[in-house]
Amino acid sequence: MLSCHSGVLTHNVTGAPTIAGLLRERLIYGLASLMSGPSINSPVPLMSAPITQDVLTIPRKLPETGRTNIVGLTRGQLREALIAAGTAEKQAKMRVGQIWQWIYHWGLRDFAQMTNLAKDYRALLAEHFEISLPEIVSRQVSADGTRKYLLRIAGGHEVEAVYIPEEGRGTLCVSSQVGCTLTCSFCHTGTQKLVRNLTPGEIVGQVMVARDDLGEWPVPGAPRDETRLISNVVLMGMGEPLYNFDNVRDAMKVVMDNEGLSLSRRRITLSTSGVVPEIARTAEEIGCLLAVSFHATTDEVRNTLVPINRRWNIQALLDALREYPRLSNSERITFEYVMLDGVNDSDEDARRLVRLIRGIPAKINLIPFNEWPGAPYKRSGWDRIQAFADIVHKAGYASPIRTPRGEDIMAACGQLKSATERGRKNRAQIAAEAAG
Ligand code: SAH
Ligand code: SF4
Repeated sequence: MLSCHSGVLTHNVTGAPTIAGLLRERLIYGLASLMSGPSINSPVPLMSAPITQDVLTIPRKLPETGRTNIVGLTRGQLREALIAAGTAEKQAKMRVGQIWQWIYHWGLRDFAQMTNLAKDYRALLAEHFEISLPEIVSRQVSADGTRKYLLRIAGGHEVEAVYIPEEGRGTLCVSSQVGCTLTCSFCHTGTQKLVRNLTPGEIVGQVMVARDDLGEWPVPGAPRDETRLISNVVLMGMGEPLYNFDNVRDAMKVVMDNEGLSLSRRRITLSTSGVVPEIARTAEEIGCLLAVSFHATTDEVRNTLVPINRRWNIQALLDALREYPRLSNSERITFEYVMLDGVNDSDEDARRLVRLIRGIPAKINLIPFNEWPGAPYKRSGWDRIQAFADIVHKAGYASPIRTPRGEDIMAACGQLKSATERGRKNRAQIAAEAAG
């Protein structure tokens, strides 16, 4: 079961809501706390759960048509594909530029309308290529303007993307996998079996579909509006982006290209649970901002919450993070910290956290846990979260507390998801099966 939970309004340490320092958005897999349902309040040991699950990647050629989807090809890949389809090598670079602009700047979906290309060349394109996007299965709009899309992709699978409008900006939270490679014990996605990696086209496609829905493509001849509805993209949806590195990188290259969707690398945030070997590559090959799902201050607790910690522990993760700002030439890293009652939320944890991250330019996002039916944890009390934030703040770090956006539309979407892709039911069941 999947549901999105996107928090933007933040609270400062005195509890007053602030607009400043608004946070990166993400989907959180788990029903919103307003869902009723039983929850088990003691953490379930997960030593028998796998750290990762197997991944399938589908080929670029669409099996139904035999045509190649252009969406998501990098410029280099598009050039090669055009040459393979019969474009003269000398012209290929220019053709890439023309097609690119039509698709990513103007939002065109039909080769026949690419009026600066000869008619027979348009026909050749239509014979070999498609401009294909995920299909919107449903769209829910929250009272606060947040939009959640359930999207269908090849194979009939479904993923979600969430758009969160704010004063002066708008953030789109996109997914990178159907399900997740990992099995974090507090995350509802971790209880779903991994279905497959998204292709670059399916990742870029989430941005394009949201632009369609928001009516954000430029109109020829109209004055250019510099306020962008989708001004930021966060890879905080379903899946572990660094276990789908190449596709995520290629997708972000397309999103960042300044003759198309044109989002700067500083407006893209990738969130990882801590796939250490890919962190330096993220800096070098993508260069976007980084968020890390930290969530614990001892290896013992992190092993249980974020089992990938058993492969790369806190020390290994911090070593990789220390290098990130220099390698990516970016400012600070966002540490995500989900507040779980009695598990990771003590004053001692807060003090340990600031000691651990000393020397790393950082912001700490405190995320009140979003409970889901069968979840083995409870959300920390508000006073506890405040006290934790206070310690982190006094140590000199921004420590905003995320509050949910679009809460009223989450539960239903999570239910939609469960009907098609639920894997294992819940942590308690996994533990029981492992024990039995
Ligand atoms: N797989 C990546 C990105 C997707 S998860 C990662 O783990 O970083 C986006 C964020 O939501 C992560 O920080 C994740 O730890 C957090 N999250 C997941 N389930 C949650 C829940 N039920 N309540 C609060 N935060 C949750
Ligand atoms: Fe959930 Fe992220 Fe862990 Fe995957 S890596 S199970 S999406 S928290």
